[in-house]
Amino acid sequence: MSTQPTGFSPDQVTPPAGNFIGGQYVPGDGTEYDVIRPSDGHVIRSDRGASANLVDRAVTAAAKAYKTSGWAEMPPRARAKVLFRWADLIDQNLEEMARLESLASCRLINETRHFDIGFAAETIRFFAEAIDKLDGKVLASEAKVISMHVNEPYGVVAAISPWNVPLVLAVLKVGPALAAGNAVVLKPSELTPYSILRAAELAHQAGVPAGLLAVLPGLGPETGSALVKHPLVNYVSFTGSTATGRQVMIDAANSGLKPVCLELGGKSPQLVFRDAPSLDRVADIIAGNICFNAGQVCFAGTRLVVDEKIGDELTEKIAQRLKSPRPGPTWDTQTTLAPIISEKQGTRIEGILKDARRTGAEIVIGGGREQTGNGGVFFQPTIVRNTKPDNAAIINEVFGPVLTVQSFHDIDEGVALADHPIYGLAGAVHTSDINKALLAAKSIPAGTVWVNTYAELSLNAPFGGYKQSGFGRDYGMSGLAKYMNTKTINIRLN
Ligand code: NAD
Repeated sequence: MSTQPTGFSPDQVTPPAGNFIGGQYVPGDGTEYDVIRPSDGHVIRSDRGASANLVDRAVTAAAKAYKTSGWAEMPPRARAKVLFRWADLIDQNLEEMARLESLASCRLINETRHFDIGFAAETIRFFAEAIDKLDGKVLASEAKVISMHVNEPYGVVAAISPWNVPLVLAVLKVGPALAAGNAVVLKPSELTPYSILRAAELAHQAGVPAGLLAVLPGLGPETGSALVKHPLVNYVSFTGSTATGRQVMIDAANSGLKPVCLELGGKSPQLVFRDAPSLDRVADIIAGNICFNAGQVCFAGTRLVVDEKIGDELTEKIAQRLKSPRPGPTWDTQTTLAPIISEKQGTRIEGILKDARRTGAEIVIGGGREQTGNGGVFFQPTIVRNTKPDNAAIINEVFGPVLTVQSFHDIDEGVALADHPIYGLAGAVHTSDINKALLAAKSIPAGTVWVNTYAELSLNAPFGGYKQSGFGRDYGMSGLAKYMNTKTINIRLN
């Protein structure tokens, strides 16, 4: 379908309701909660999440589908064909999917039309293509023994995803887990359940067997917790905050010592040396990244660590650029600054900035809410300066359009400041000196370091955290391999 140049009316979008279990929609039976449009605070609907009983029904159906549907036993390329059909159906329903995604989330319609939906489909294709590229091994052994190392799916995978880029982050789990031959029960964020529910329906239409993929929106401590603890779940794949990830790991350990992978929060540095190729370009990169999704991105480069000789000039250039984004609803194509997901998150950002100021930080630009007059929570792009390393704005993942500034005297001090005490998800180095770039990139403890660029993700490049940003890698062949266990088989020939 061709993309539309105009926005859309949110009242004309009818989102799917309930849970997707066994190839059909099933009403929720758990705690009731409101799904709210972050753009204007309007309640879309009150939904009931999945209780522990419904979680049990979905996981049991997934375990049965895993055993009886033949999905894991199929020739790999036959499984790939189904996944290709799924990706094509997502593309064919682009406009509907883009609207569903923009309705309840912070994702702008320009972005869901031109990035999220197509990227989700490409993610599925990448892992479908990779299925028969993941080889086992024949090991060295004595002449009359054949020793093999083979990959096997886990069985039922529990996947839990956040609200900030809802469809992409959900598909990044479901795609490779299904490709590896597993059944998947996904709990998306209760704030943004619609696009992935519809995508699950399309998966079923494409030929994913009934029951093999379930989607259960619901509250984390109710639905998410019951899913992690379910005895038929064999592997837990989580993306979300570090605090929740810790709880998920505890629950997985206490309910059968299930393996987990955790993709968690970040507080990524932009380390800028005085020989950076162009300060205007660096300012474009940093300002653009701070404003993307209103800073609600795990790898947002929110800490400017800059050579003291160019600190003021670069900060001024970034500040100029932060004046132009236009706040507004996600369904308006003129909007360039997204809403903050909830009132609770808006209050949290204000609290961090209040603490930052109290301990000596200076607000260079922004620092408060944008008033659009149409409801919703919008936050001004903000720069915070004169921060000590233990300042609240430096320590906490703000998850809003807030940049802190710290300056350094020499490379050692710069690299030391870039190293965050808690997080290690990503970072960037800006310099014309390749030697300095590589030294700094190798010294920053983070899963991804960009040089003279930012946020360039490739489907084939593993992505994940150091420190409390988590462990395990999404994307790339490791993003597929983690959904498989390995087995050694030794055969003695008679
Ligand atoms: P969150 O931790 O509040 O929630 C994530 C998911 O966990 C939601 O579906 C939630 O309902 C569920 N959940 C909550 N409590 C649970 C429990 N006890 N048991 C099981 N599930 C539970 O995170 P969020 O606010 O939705 O997302 C924002 C966070 O996600 C940020 O910290 C961000 O950095 C992180 N994130 C990380 C990555 C990455 O790749 N590293 C990507 C996107 C977002």
